[in-house]
Formats: sequence, C-alpha cells, structure tokens
Amino acid sequence: MPTTSGEGLSSKVVGILALQGGFEAHAKMVRRLGAAAREVRVPADLDGLDALIIPGGESTVMTLGIEREGLAEPLRALIRAGTPVLGTCAGMIMLDREHLGLLDLATQRNAFGRQIRSFEADVEVAGVGGGPMHAVFIRAPWVAEHGAGVEILGRVEDHPVAVRQGNMLAVSFHPELAADTRLHELLLQLNGSAERGARGH
Ligand code: GLN
Repeated sequence: MPTTSGEGLSSKVVGILALQGGFEAHAKMVRRLGAAAREVRVPADLDGLDALIIPGGESTVMTLGIEREGLAEPLRALIRAGTPVLGTCAGMIMLDREHLGLLDLATQRNAFGRQIRSFEADVEVAGVGGGPMHAVFIRAPWVAEHGAGVEILGRVEDHPVAVRQGNMLAVSFHPELAADTRLHELLLQLNGSAERGARGH
C-alpha cells in the first residue's frame, strides 16, 4: 500500500502500459504522489484501474506489443468507459486516429526533425497552474490536425504538443523525466464518471 495520502489519492491504482518504453519513470512519479502504480502487460492487468498512462517509447514496437497481447480492444473499452488516461510522446501517438483511434487527431511522428532530435522547452499548459512546464522532447511528435472536440492545451513553435479530449490527456513531451508531477496530478484529479457526464461520452 502507498504510504502518503494527503489528497485522498492513496486509494487510486494507476496502470502504466509496460510493454516497452519509459514506464518505470512514470511508476515512480505515480508512487511519489501517493497512488499505487501497476504495470500493465496483459488485459487482466487493466481490471479495476482508476487511471492509465501510456508512456513514451517507440510507437511501432508498442503497436506490435499491443497486438501480440490482445490489448487493443480492452484498452479501447477502458478508455471509452471514461477512465482518465495520459499518453506521453509515443503514448500520444498510440491514442491517435491511426492507432487506437481514441483521440480525434493525427500525429506527425518525429516532427521536430527526422534525426534524433531532443530538446527542452518551457511550455505553458492550460489547466496546469503554477507556471510553464519544463518539457523534455525526445524525437517527439506534434499534432498535425485535430477535430473540434480536441482542446489544445499547449504549443511549441505554434504546433500543438499538449491536448485534452474528455478523459484523455496527451503530451508530446516527457513530464516524467522533468521531475514535474503536475500533469500526473491532473490525471489523478480527473474523475472518469464526472467527465463522462460532462462531456456526453
Ligand atoms: N519517435 C517515437 C515514435 O515515433 C516517439 C519517441 C518517444 O516516445 N520519446 O514512436
């Protein structure tokens, strides 16, 4: 059981898709916030989750893992039921129209340059108070095009890099690498059923 509580988060169980990529740093952040982190590798790991994180990594490899484990439909069902989800970098790609088909947007992979291009930037993210987020970008995508239901929360060089659509949050960068817990806190504060009601899902 987690030891810290404070904001009543200690009872929450956050699943982190752990097929590939940067899931461990997310798990540490979740635990730091006093919630429990559960690595998700097979559909049964999704049972009873209060929130889900899809980490960064390599979207092609992650896609193969999701297919191999039969996770696509169970993930869609969980997220369509209103469970709050945070996708970071490749996690944003996994949520897009071409992959799990949950976010009404198209991502452009490796959008900031085809070579390994990493950079850091301060990004103002709507809904995240307390000043801009220090964002680490690693071969990051951006949102190339999106439907009207997608709220743009933050941009870099005028390209959307942080979005929300109902219970889904997605960012192009890696908040788990910047010791900034605010986005994870926002995820934990999203209430699945309230969102469903408010957004008509
Ligand atoms: N470039 C990767 C992809 O296209 C994403 C990189 C990341 O998640 N850091 O899948």
